[in-house]
Amino acid sequence: PSLKHIRNFSIIAHIDHGKSTLADRIIQLCEGLSVRELKEQVLDTMDIERERGITIKAQSVTLDYHADDGNTYQLNFIDTPGHVDFSYEVSRSLYACEGALLVVDAGQGVEAQSVANCYTAIEQGLEVLPVLNKMDLPQADPDKVSQEIEEIIGLDATDACQVSAKSGMGMEALLERLVRDIPPPKGDPEAPLQALIIDSWFDNYLGVVSLVRLFDGTLKKGEKIRLKSTGRDWEAGAIGIFTPKRKETGVLRAGEVGFIVAGIKDIMGAPVGDTIVHTKTADKVERLPGFLKVKPQVYAGMFPISSDDFEDFRDALQKLALNDASLDYEPENSDALGFGFRVGFLGTLHMEIIQERLEREYGLDLLTTAPTVIYEVRMDNGDVLPVSNPSKLPDMANVDELREPICRATILVPQEYVGNVITECVSRRGVQLDMQFLGSQIQLIYELPMAEVVMDFFDRLKSISKGYASLDYSFDRFEAAKLVRLDVLINGDRVDALASIIHRDHAHGRGRLLVEKMKDLIPRQMFDVAIQAAVGGQVVARSTVKALRKNVTAKCYGGDVSRKKKLLEKQKAGKKRMKQVGRVEIPQDAFLAVLKLN
Ligand code: GDP
Ligand code: MG
Repeated sequence: PSLKHIRNFSIIAHIDHGKSTLADRIIQLCEGLSVRELKEQVLDTMDIERERGITIKAQSVTLDYHADDGNTYQLNFIDTPGHVDFSYEVSRSLYACEGALLVVDAGQGVEAQSVANCYTAIEQGLEVLPVLNKMDLPQADPDKVSQEIEEIIGLDATDACQVSAKSGMGMEALLERLVRDIPPPKGDPEAPLQALIIDSWFDNYLGVVSLVRLFDGTLKKGEKIRLKSTGRDWEAGAIGIFTPKRKETGVLRAGEVGFIVAGIKDIMGAPVGDTIVHTKTADKVERLPGFLKVKPQVYAGMFPISSDDFEDFRDALQKLALNDASLDYEPENSDALGFGFRVGFLGTLHMEIIQERLEREYGLDLLTTAPTVIYEVRMDNGDVLPVSNPSKLPDMANVDELREPICRATILVPQEYVGNVITECVSRRGVQLDMQFLGSQIQLIYELPMAEVVMDFFDRLKSISKGYASLDYSFDRFEAAKLVRLDVLINGDRVDALASIIHRDHAHGRGRLLVEKMKDLIPRQMFDVAIQAAVGGQVVARSTVKALRKNVTAKCYGGDVSRKKKLLEKQKAGKKRMKQVGRVEIPQDAFLAVLKLN
């Protein structure tokens, strides 16, 4: 197609507002897939995404739309994730687009994450079309929600499209609007090639597959290409589009979005944000600005249950990091847990998903320590060190100041829950900066310690607002705070992987809760297990897991065969997530106990 018949767009929406359903409906209307193939939501391809009902990786689809004006338009759209942990993916997808659909549930209203993503789109110069979804529901209130879009985002929503992605109502009108109002891409198919890698991933059969947006030029199968960052040359092998099935076309032109496979086996060979050019015109073409590297906010130690898996673990992390630039990792050696990696994530949901992917897609059994934010330590000699591992905190005798990360959080919530939200923010050491009525909601702006936000704040907000509160936050600065390391001793030995950094005022209370919690989580052994919490060598709380009584264990051994077998299986399953620390077996849950003390 010529440039004027191409539309590149993204869909911005809060979780559950219907982005994936809308995407499916568009695919169906453009006959990208049969109804049978659509049974499962096609865009959420990863198993984990389907099960959790969330979209993690951005995906692209190219479709043909026969518009009322008699022209056939090529629609390239990129699905984006909606959770706060993945806003980096969103800005990356938007970079390849000229427009975005802002999908808002007409019964629910605007949520904080959509606001943040919408601003990103507007800042990047995209045309944003508001779409009111779920108009089939009786509680849909388009006037109220349109007003909210105008008041909270500042976008004219008087004639916003009203649709039901579920029933298909209003969808044709939406597509007509889309081709009319979203501008076509600019670019010159005759100019030297300049393409941006939006995403890369590793395919076991093809090697590295990259999703690219061509800004200029034409790329054909068999041509020699160069990656700007590495300066290495490759031959363009398979080239094509996703419909959403992978379809080879052999050519991509300026303005289009598609995939390229160039026989790159080294997983670092095609980094996201890199520029692809033709070898013959390489010197004439600038490297595109690429993407900001996002910094992980949360770190945790990850250790293979079996130390034989260490190399496989390293390999798997390398592959995942290829298309997840926010994933950061370096080797870590723990006295208690052996060799593993300290891995950085955008948030705790990101962490859970990476752990699940490592286990399912790479068959690893892992144990994860409690996540922590990054602290800054200023030493007496003036050096400032980042600390992402509580057990590596330097000796306090040489420390001048401990600083914690502070974030700025925006919360949108209906008026009746505002009191609950404020109480929650205060208990997490929040400082209110602003409070405003916007439409039928209230916008609160707080400064909060990042540690208090990344752990379970989002879940808490949801539960104290019947699911209505929404949250967006970003790092602001480091600030000195009265922090201490809370150590855990098992039978007198400090277990490095159980240490955490907390506010001094919380040390006693949380220490007590922690040992109680651990007592319930550590299984009884043949001997008493003493659990102590300590700050700076001083024990602040203790409890004991009593030894098993003899006759309980005796039962395990006699008995019939099938029962014995069952018991063994049960033990095996339980073992999966246990680690022997000294003489004591500590289960995965105990390592995460510090997270659940509220
Ligand atoms: P996403 O998280 O934004 O991708 O949202 P989904 O597309 O997964 O939709 C979330 C839920 O809303 C699902 O249960 C959908 O079936 C439902 N849903 C989506 N669109 C509509 C709609 O137009 N009407 C109704 N009644 N439900 C919808
Ligand atoms: Mg979805």
